[in-house]
Amino acid sequence: MTDRLYYHDSFLYDFDAEVRSVVESPRPALILDRTAFYPTSGGQIHDTGWIVAAEQSADPAGKLRVTEVAEAEDGHVVHYLEAPLKDVKPGTRVRGEIDSVRRRDHMQQHSAQHVLSAAFVRLFNMPTVSFHMADDYCSIDLDTPSLTQNQIESAERLANEIVIENRPVDIRFTTRDEAAALGLRKLPPTERDQLRLIDIHDFDLTACGGTHVAHTGQIASILLRKSEKVRHGYRVEFVAGLRAVAAARRDFSALTETATLFSANIYDVPQQVRKSLDEIKSLRKQREQSQEDLAAAQAEALLAEVPEKHGRRLVVRIVSGHDLNFLKLLAQKLTRQSSGAIALLAAESPQPALVFAQSAGQPYDMAALLKQTMVKLGGRGGGSKDLAQGGAPSSEGLAAALAEAAQTLTV
Ligand SMILES: [Zn+2]
Repeated sequence: MTDRLYYHDSFLYDFDAEVRSVVESPRPALILDRTAFYPTSGGQIHDTGWIVAAEQSADPAGKLRVTEVAEAEDGHVVHYLEAPLKDVKPGTRVRGEIDSVRRRDHMQQHSAQHVLSAAFVRLFNMPTVSFHMADDYCSIDLDTPSLTQNQIESAERLANEIVIENRPVDIRFTTRDEAAALGLRKLPPTERDQLRLIDIHDFDLTACGGTHVAHTGQIASILLRKSEKVRHGYRVEFVAGLRAVAAARRDFSALTETATLFSANIYDVPQQVRKSLDEIKSLRKQREQSQEDLAAAQAEALLAEVPEKHGRRLVVRIVSGHDLNFLKLLAQKLTRQSSGAIALLAAESPQPALVFAQSAGQPYDMAALLKQTMVKLGGRGGGSKDLAQGGAPSSEGLAAALAEAAQTLTV
């Protein structure tokens, strides 16, 4: 098993080691006798960094990026490299260098998780059942049937108080029996004899193999974000340290941009959005009413224009400046305002469209007539015997098609 240096010191960013084995495929990788690189495990994602052969340390070409670190089933830590390291064989001395910015971020997130999980237990007796760390945010799953906004804010408050108090965070090793007597927040299910405990003084004691800050003040800040119901409880997303600052910065930028659009203060944005939505709703209603009124007036004028023949009035018209919805509305008004109306209507823009309609009880088949017309126009459409609609690819030939359709009707 690889000797894990991070078990004893999370701030060890450089270390010397000896190569135990060299892996060439499927990806180049090294197994060392000891490492400070953290492999993905226990919810925490892996470190990245660099490995260089000790005698090449002055040669920048001999320094290779460690892109991923994983735990093998036999307990070895596998360091995946971006390319094979030259002239390296078992026994070669190497130097490892951890990406300290990434490591510090992981320490902040993972330590924040311990503080937060303990806060939810202390305040509301809600145990954490799982922890997930991603590149941009982290989350814990709480075993609870309900979770209120007040509870979220109280846990966030207590967690940040523990950060401000700058409590020591110690690493301790105990036997399983000793640990059971100490009253751990979470005892791991594995049958390991020795346990590594993370002790946040007088606040939280739990078994964990992750990398953690030395004092809670190094977490800097904990910000709770989205919460959602999941299968076994509630998932709470959070960010800590510089991620919290970045998240607050992003929120502020988005809010400021929105507030500028409304010429408002950022805290008035929800009220402004509500007001605008109400206005849109009311304008939409007004528009619908205007369209109804307009269609009714146009129908009346059109019916007055065409002569009645055998109790029927045939209206053939290209209506400009209106869409398919208005066309349908107009057809409805025409066929309801007169008991013998046949309407063959088309719109040229914004989208060429046709609506054929007849008053109830008239003998024609509008759907069949529209289909015939559409074949000529290269469009598609359908409907019922009394009302059919369709769209044409272009407005070319619309007038001729309407006239042709009208001729087939023996009005
Ligand atoms: Zn942990």
